Amino acid sequence: MKKTDRDTNYINGQMRDHTASATGASVFRVIGKVLLTAAVILLITMIIVGISLLSFVFSMKDESVKIDLAEYKQTYTSYLYVNGSGDNRNQPVQKLSLHSGEQRVWVDYAKIPKAMKDAMVAIEDKRFWDHSGVDWKRTAGAMLNLVGGSNSYGGSTITQQLIKNLTQEDEVSLTRKVKEIFRAVNLEKKYSKEQILEAYLNCVPYGSGTQGVQAAANLYFGKNIQDCDIAQCAAIAGITQNPAKYTPLVHKDNNRIRQQTVLTAMHDQKLITDAEYTQAMKESENMTFVGKKGSDTSNQVWDWYTEAVIRDVQTALMNKYSCSSSAASNMIYSSGLKIYSAEDQDLQKTAQDYILHSGILDDDKDVQTGFCAVGYDGRVLATVGSRNQKTANLVNSYATMLKFQSGSSVKPISTYAPALDKGQITYSSLVKDEKVENYFPDGSAGPNNWSSDTQSAVCHGEVTVQEALAHSYNCAAAQVCKAFGITNSYNFMVQKLGFSNCLTKEDSQLLGNMSLGGQTQGVTVLNMAAAYEIFGNGGKYYQPYTFYKVLDHSGNVIIDNTTKAPVQAISSVSASIMNRLLRTVVTDGTATAVNIDGWDIVGKTGTTDNDVNSWFVGCSPYATGAVWTGYGKNKTLSSTTYSKALWKGIFEKYLANKTQKDFTFDGSMVKKSYCVRTGLLAGSGCADTKDGYYDSNNLPKVCDGNHGSGGSASEPDESSTGGESQQATSQAESNGGGEEPASQTPQSSEPAASSQHGEESKAPVESKPAASQKPTSAPSEGNAG
Ligand SMILES: [Zn+2]
Repeated sequence: MKKTDRDTNYINGQMRDHTASATGASVFRVIGKVLLTAAVILLITMIIVGISLLSFVFSMKDESVKIDLAEYKQTYTSYLYVNGSGDNRNQPVQKLSLHSGEQRVWVDYAKIPKAMKDAMVAIEDKRFWDHSGVDWKRTAGAMLNLVGGSNSYGGSTITQQLIKNLTQEDEVSLTRKVKEIFRAVNLEKKYSKEQILEAYLNCVPYGSGTQGVQAAANLYFGKNIQDCDIAQCAAIAGITQNPAKYTPLVHKDNNRIRQQTVLTAMHDQKLITDAEYTQAMKESENMTFVGKKGSDTSNQVWDWYTEAVIRDVQTALMNKYSCSSSAASNMIYSSGLKIYSAEDQDLQKTAQDYILHSGILDDDKDVQTGFCAVGYDGRVLATVGSRNQKTANLVNSYATMLKFQSGSSVKPISTYAPALDKGQITYSSLVKDEKVENYFPDGSAGPNNWSSDTQSAVCHGEVTVQEALAHSYNCAAAQVCKAFGITNSYNFMVQKLGFSNCLTKEDSQLLGNMSLGGQTQGVTVLNMAAAYEIFGNGGKYYQPYTFYKVLDHSGNVIIDNTTKAPVQAISSVSASIMNRLLRTVVTDGTATAVNIDGWDIVGKTGTTDNDVNSWFVGCSPYATGAVWTGYGKNKTLSSTTYSKALWKGIFEKYLANKTQKDFTFDGSMVKKSYCVRTGLLAGSGCADTKDGYYDSNNLPKVCDGNHGSGGSASEPDESSTGGESQQATSQAESNGGGEEPASQTPQSSEPAASSQHGEESKAPVESKPAASQKPTSAPSEGNAG
């Protein structure tokens, strides 16, 4: 019994124990499973992350510098050619030779003193001779710094610094760092240590505008680098880490302290003897710097066109070789390029001379101007960047660099052309010249038209597109742009007409910026001249170019601008209709002053609030042209007639040498009579008619003669139209100058952000608008420039 009890107990005990241990085991099993699963998931995650990291890194393993160091060190003279006599592209003539001046003089490795090389290696990269492009010990330390939130990286070898200098990619990011590491490793595979150090010593900036040790030795010590002693080499070597801080001409003390650091490093690394160290340290205490630049024999002032070419070639080289601006500049001056400029020498000379000597700007010594002419294939024919004689190189150009609000000259390209192309409007359809609700940020309606006749703001009610454009009514343009869509207008200009360099996100949301040309930053004269190409070539936008192509010194074409395809911005027939609409601006609108006898000139004026900027952008059958005038600041122009007078004067001379030629129009464009009251094709009951231009495949309806309430239409029927249908010819219909243009100056007591709604001053040429006739207004702040 006992036994049995005991047994039973025992058994029970056993059983109890057994049950407990079984439960324990299953818990462990579950936990184990969970842990195992977690471990597996973690492992898989790590593998995935590891693989993506590896493939990310691996994807960059072939990263290399595109510049060939052997080529880079060469100093070949480059040449710039222009078309030969009679603008003959097949017989180019040399206009300019370009060679490196005092700023960069390449000196061969053998001619660089050992002290200079030792100083540089000692202070910047002491394991240079041993590593293979990357100093892993320093890299690891630098990575830790980066992870620790430091925004300086450091740890770059001389090889890496050379790469940074050639590519100018210096943002602190992991991707760039990995890229640079591979580039460094690959560079070391391709070149010897000596070649790399030679390139480094010749490329790196050494303060005060110098590049390379030879230029530095010239500037600071007035001698060649091979004649510099240890202390002088150390002074130069110390500058590289921060040229602005250590240039001895400005910060002599900083330089001395840094120079002594270099000497100490050289001494510590046993690169100089005790005696040399002592002597150099002593010398550093009283070092003198000459600061004298050698005479620059290449002191040649380029004309505005040549300067634009040099800048454009530099940008193109930077894009092609992913290199820094200084590396691209080196190529221009020393790699033996052949640059074929697209300049039209005759027009360039005409434009320069006219702006300098015509006397048109004589009444106002402060007014500035910029001019560009562009051919219908994007070729920039001429550009003048200032009213003054050009006296220096690399100066700002009012034509190609500075930006100004375009005012109403933008209306055809931001609003009427895309709306017409979409079928939203026709040549004569009625648009409301009425204020747009909630136009201004304060919720009030706008924009304002201004009439200096009535000294009041006026709207004209329903008007035809032709009237609205010819007289530059602001409300009508705003209405058309609003219906087309502000963002659509922005997209059209950016995607189809090359305005991505200047239009902003803010512009894409403000009606006044898009429809009336009150852009946040403004646009360049070149932007405008190029965009107007579409009105003379069937709607195609060619990106403007100032050079045809660039050849390297072996004769290979490295950049070619002549093969770029255009963008069909609007249809050919829309372009032709727009051309005829813009003709009416010149025949009886705001630009009668630019009419040139015997030539079909079309275009659009533009002024901005308070007449701060004044433009004319127009087309002749041979080329487009744009003129801006202003002060480059928020100041009212003494006259808004300058831009038109300059345009007319330059184009009159340009066209005088040309064979008579007309615009070529699309075969689908037809000329028809339309009813002025309804904007529809004229019917038998319409008394007030004009001629307009239409797409024969998409004609408006015919007016049924009911003019009481805005008119109504019957189905189009050729036989019932009062207007004769005829194939449009390119002959300009001259209305003999037409009536005096309606005066439209802005009433601009409106907020700056959307305030540039200015319009043309009164009668062109003869009447300068008196300042007292202007609306009083707060100065707008949104002026570009
Ligand atoms: Zn009618």
